[in-house]
Amino acid sequence: MNFAMALDYQNCINCKACEIACKEENGVQLGADKQRIWVGVTENSIFGRPILSLYPSQCNHCVDAPCVDVCPTNASHFADGGLVLVDQEKCILCKGCMEACPYDARFVDDKVAAVDKCTFCFDTRISQGKATTACQATCPTKVRLFGDLDDEEGELVQLLKSRKFFVLKENEGTVPKLFYLFPEHDDHFAQNSIGHETTIHTWETFKPLIDMAKAKRSKQWTSL
Ligand code: SF4
Ligand code: SF4
Ligand code: SF4
Repeated sequence: MNFAMALDYQNCINCKACEIACKEENGVQLGADKQRIWVGVTENSIFGRPILSLYPSQCNHCVDAPCVDVCPTNASHFADGGLVLVDQEKCILCKGCMEACPYDARFVDDKVAAVDKCTFCFDTRISQGKATTACQATCPTKVRLFGDLDDEEGELVQLLKSRKFFVLKENEGTVPKLFYLFPEHDDHFAQNSIGHETTIHTWETFKPLIDMAKAKRSKQWTSL
């Protein structure tokens, strides 16, 4: 298994239901700066017309995650399914992982004096056989689809085979697993809205990157 998520990000209305559901279900510390999930807002202009884009985001569970490499105690680690998790007992709050993460996906949970971030709801849902995360289940406009990249017949891979997509900060080389679905209908507008430096992928172009990184890293995956 290799857990991942696709986001039909253009459906996001910034209602923040996902943020609330995540906090509620996962016991995330209260406070605006204590988030496992957030909506990034960028302002841009196309042909002189201002546009605002919303990029719902969370930890990418990167296949080649730098946050794991820098952790001196192995608190940050890979686990089965390609999850990137934090063992709170082992965390010494050196914050190296927070600096190493290009996505700013981590924060300090003061309740337990350890770093926290998205777990893809492993403890609260996935380990109990549920197929969706809290953020997917609660989103009123159906932005997210959680699934398994190793399941070629599954809904997630089928979606990635049928739509073009991009990842954020691909040049960081972490092989992230949040796939932003490229808007349909108007390629020119869409490419302008996300910037011309962003590579648009298909399943055929991105799958080899995942396979290569997984071959390197899966030896480090620990049993859940
Ligand atoms: Fe680590 Fe950041 Fe990637 Fe999550 S998004 S796996 S915290 S580098
Ligand atoms: Fe590891 Fe904790 Fe340091 Fe992060 S803050 S690198 S999880 S010990
Ligand atoms: Fe929070 Fe779960 Fe969504 Fe991660 S997958 S952001 S832990 S609700």
